[in-house]
Amino acid sequence: MVPRLALLCMLFCLAMAGCTSKPPSASGAAQTAYVPAGDQHARPGRDKVVVADNQAFARFGRAPGGKEFGSLAGRTLEVSSLSEIRLADKEVILTFDDGPMPGKTDRVLEILDQFGVKATFFMVGQMANSYPAVAARVVNHGHSVGGHTYNHANLASTDTNRALADIATGNAAVTRATGAPIGFFRFPYLADTVALRNSVAARGMVILDVDIDTKDYFKLSPQTIAARTMAQLRDRRKGVILMHDIHHRTAAMLPLLLSQLRSGGYKVVALQYRRSRMPEAMVSAGTVRGNSRQM
Ligand SMILES: [Zn+2]
Repeated sequence: MVPRLALLCMLFCLAMAGCTSKPPSASGAAQTAYVPAGDQHARPGRDKVVVADNQAFARFGRAPGGKEFGSLAGRTLEVSSLSEIRLADKEVILTFDDGPMPGKTDRVLEILDQFGVKATFFMVGQMANSYPAVAARVVNHGHSVGGHTYNHANLASTDTNRALADIATGNAAVTRATGAPIGFFRFPYLADTVALRNSVAARGMVILDVDIDTKDYFKLSPQTIAARTMAQLRDRRKGVILMHDIHHRTAAMLPLLLSQLRSGGYKVVALQYRRSRMPEAMVSAGTVRGNSRQM
């Protein structure tokens, strides 16, 4: 059983420091979120976004089956290596990190169901241990899951053997909670090393990086977060989108984002892991990085 105080501390740290925030320094570990200069605010004027009518959405949101939103769902992509993740124009993959969290993850699942789309959830092992029922619901709703270490450690500053052990412990916890084998992995804070990436890939896991960071860990309005995400998408036209299912504002923002994706003609690709017969032959996942190094 995880000591309650330790869990509360970790929840607080996750809430304060976004997944892609700069890793905390050794001296100031887990104090506050890293806020890049000039990034605390939206860029007013750049994004002209039509905000969904909340009343109308609430009405549709209660519709059984959510068939109204089916057109947002794209193809299912089954992969066993990062090199197989090739998105076409206007295709996106939705990812949620750091959960599962009661209430918040449940709300995210509800919204994804309403829009008829699937996502990938990168779970922290300790969270899955603490909330196994929520973790299991993610898989039962048809979403894929990945590992995100046991306690959201910064692996770039961890000894390689200890880092690999942490990843394995985290994966085992998620598998125990969900019953699903873990094929995907994302580094906390996107903090990695070439050696670690190669080691993780050699063990048959697909490391998923981030193309579009919603920065939902900043305390901004749902409208601002959705608008900024759509602005990034207009530049890139496709990519892996990072969100966190541990914030109320993420769940509040999600209907706006999905509505705007749909009206913009985007498709949400469902990512599934295909276990390879020869994991050692997998291509190192270090060749395709997106822009995550800047985060
Ligand atoms: Zn994270």
